[in-house]
Order: sequence, then C-alpha cells, then structure tokens
Amino acid sequence: MPTDVQPRSAFRGITIALSKGRIFQDTRPLLAAAGIEPQADPEQSRELIIGTNRPDVRLVIVRASDVPTYVQYGAADLGVAGLDVLLEHGGDGLYQPLDLRIARCRMMVAVPSGFDYAAAIGRGARLRVATKYIRTASEHFAAKGMHVDLIKLYGSMELAPLTGLGDAIVDLVSSGGTLRANNLVAVEHIRDISSRLIVNVAAWKLQRSHIAPLLEIFQQAVQPG
Ligand code: ATP
Ligand code: MG
Repeated sequence: MPTDVQPRSAFRGITIALSKGRIFQDTRPLLAAAGIEPQADPEQSRELIIGTNRPDVRLVIVRASDVPTYVQYGAADLGVAGLDVLLEHGGDGLYQPLDLRIARCRMMVAVPSGFDYAAAIGRGARLRVATKYIRTASEHFAAKGMHVDLIKLYGSMELAPLTGLGDAIVDLVSSGGTLRANNLVAVEHIRDISSRLIVNVAAWKLQRSHIAPLLEIFQQAVQPG
C-alpha cells in the first residue's frame, strides 16, 4: 500500500451528476435559478466534466442509469435521476429530498394491439415480458399474483413483441407515439415517473452549508402542477 494516498478527487466544491438529453435540458433552468451556468453544452462537447461560472460547482455527464451510482459512492455530491432509474438502483446511500417534476412520463405495460392481455391473464398464461426495468416489473407482476418470465433489455423495448422476443413490454410512455408507431397499446399503468434530486448521504451531512441553499433554490424553482 502506498503511504501517500492521494484524495480521489482534488476538487473541493460541489459535483453534480447529470445525463445528456432531456434531464440536462430540463435541469438547466433549475441551475440558472441558482445562478449556475454550465460552461459547455454536453450535446456539443465531448467533455465529461463541465465547469460552470461558479468555481465551486461542476457537472459530470454520465449515463442516466449511472447517476445514482456516482452519487451513492460520493463521486458526485448531487444528481438528477428518473424515478425509474432510482427504483432499479434501490436508493442505497442516497437521500432523495426533492421531486423536480421534470422528464415526466408513465411506466406502462404494453402489448401488440391484437393481443388480448386480460384474457391471457384470466387463463393464467405465463407471459414473457421484455424490459429494462426488471426490479419494478417483477414487483408489479408479483403484486398482481402473476407469474411472468422477465427478459432484460437495455433499450428499444418496443421491438421485442414485433420479433417474438416477448408477449409484452414494460416501458416508459409519454405521448404514446412510439407505441402507436410500433402497433402496441398500453394495457396497464404501473406508476407515474419524474426526475428527483438525489444527494450523497455523507455529503448531505458534511457539506450541508453548501447543499442546503441550493436545495432551497431548486425547491422554489420547481414548476407546480
Ligand atoms: P441511455 O440512453 O443512457 O440508455 P435513457 O434512454 O434511459 O438512458 P433518456 O432517454 O435520456 O436516457 O432518459 C432519461 C430519463 O428521462 C429516464 O430515466 C426517465 O426518467 C425519463 N424519460 C425517459 N423516457 C421519457 C419520455 N418518453 N418522456 C419523458 N421522460 C422520459
Ligand atoms: Mg432513451
């Protein structure tokens, strides 16, 4: 073991983990309310660590499903993650103080439009369900007393029933356009989804004087309704 162990990161301020796309776009106004302006656009830049106009605040850009992991282990102090991702992660080491009400959608069960889901359940058929959300799906079907075979996918769930990979999918739906385009219909609403502010529990205790004012501003800036 080396005796001169370096700190894992020399950065002493607040690190916020965000994913590209809708979460970054929808978090921007909340950051602006706190006077935080990113110095690069992650959609354009290849930088994964983005500074801000505040020397004590930086952003790290990670996969949506990796945000809770960065925050859990303290590689980021704060993050913004969808409830879908948080339910799969389990929430260990995370404090979840605020629903930001952004990136809103619904987690649904969907099937091909000709498939009689109710009848299949009624006769106790064992369905194959393809999803990225194994944990949430398994809890949902267990609560209904349904035995299903879950197939783990990492994306494009809507392709599964079209290719015979599954009878049904569990996926996020907002407008329903993707389902319609693939001749699928939503048959069950599992839960409403939005993105949450997450905080590393140790950072919340040790850096409260830094984090609490930010939290206060985000709280004020959340869109009602
Ligand atoms: P990756 O591209 O890394 O696999 P992802 O596809 O989950 O991740 P996004 O599509 O940017 O990444 O989704 C990020 C979050 O936005 C999701 O975790 C979810 O909470 C929310 N979200 C996903 N789809 C929708 C949607 N259609 N409408 C609104 N919010 C959504
Ligand atoms: Mg996506």
